Amino acid sequence: MKKKQLLQKERERIMDENGIIYLENVSKSYSTGAPALNGVTLSIGRGEFVFVVGDSGSGKSTLIKLLLRELTATSGSVYVMGSDLAKLKHRQIPKFRRNLGVVFQDFRLLNDRNVFENVAFAQRIVETPTSEIRRNVPRILATVGLAGKYKAKTKQLSGGEQQRVALARALVNEPSILLADEPTGNLDPKNSWEIMGLLEEINQAGTTVIVVTHNREIVNAMQKRVITMKKGVIVSDEEEGGYIDED
Ligand code: ADP
Ligand code: MG
Repeated sequence: MKKKQLLQKERERIMDENGIIYLENVSKSYSTGAPALNGVTLSIGRGEFVFVVGDSGSGKSTLIKLLLRELTATSGSVYVMGSDLAKLKHRQIPKFRRNLGVVFQDFRLLNDRNVFENVAFAQRIVETPTSEIRRNVPRILATVGLAGKYKAKTKQLSGGEQQRVALARALVNEPSILLADEPTGNLDPKNSWEIMGLLEEINQAGTTVIVVTHNREIVNAMQKRVITMKKGVIVSDEEEGGYIDED
C-alpha cells in the first residue's frame, strides 16, 4: 500500500477506537496566568451530541479553539478525525477545517452582504462551482427556516435569524463536526430553544455536535451528554446529564 493510504487507514483506526475527537492529557497555557486547560482527556464518538458547561474562564472556548486548530496544545495530543493536530502543517489547515462548522455567540456575519452572500461565501472559499452554490444555499436556508430571507441584509434580521444564517453558513459545506460556542448567549428563550432544536436535527442527520452553553434550562431538558469544566479540568462527564449547580 502507498504511504498515503496507510496514513488514511491509521487515521480511520484512531477515529474508530478513540472517537472522532480525542484529547489525551491536554494542557494549554497562555503566556499569563494559570493553565486554561490542565490535563484534559476526552473522547467524543462519531455522531454524538455533547454539551460543554462550566463557569466563565473554565476553559471551554480554549477547548473549542484547540479543536479548530486556532491554538495548539502546550502539552498532550489533540486528534480530530484521526489527525494529530500538532502534526498538521500550516498548508494543511484549510483542508482540515473543512471538516468543521463553527458558530459563535456574536454571529460574526458579513454585515455589508445579504443572507445569500453570507452563506455562499463559505462555499466560494472551498471553490464550489456557482451552479452548486445556487442549489445548496437555498436548500440550507430552508433547513434553518429562512427560505424567504435570502435577499435581506443581515442588519435587518433579528438575533435569532442572524444565528440561523450563521448556522447555515457553518453547515453548507457539510462538515462532519459542528462546534457551537455559546450559540444562544445573545438570544431570548424562544430563539434559544429554536436554535437548539436545529442543532438537535443536524445531529440526528449524522453530524457530531458540540455545544458550549450556560443555558441550564435547555441542558437539563435535552438529556444529552454533559461535560462540566472547572478551572481547566473536566469535573464531570455524564450521559443524559444535567447542569451541575455551583456552591
Ligand atoms: P471559557 O470559555 O470557559 O470562559 P476560556 O477558555 O475563554 O474560558 O478561558 C480560560 C482561561 O484562559 C481564563 O482564565 C482566561 O482568562 C484565559 N485566557 C483565554 N484566552 C486567553 C488569551 N488569549 N490570553 C491569555 N489568557 C487567556
Ligand atoms: Mg468562552
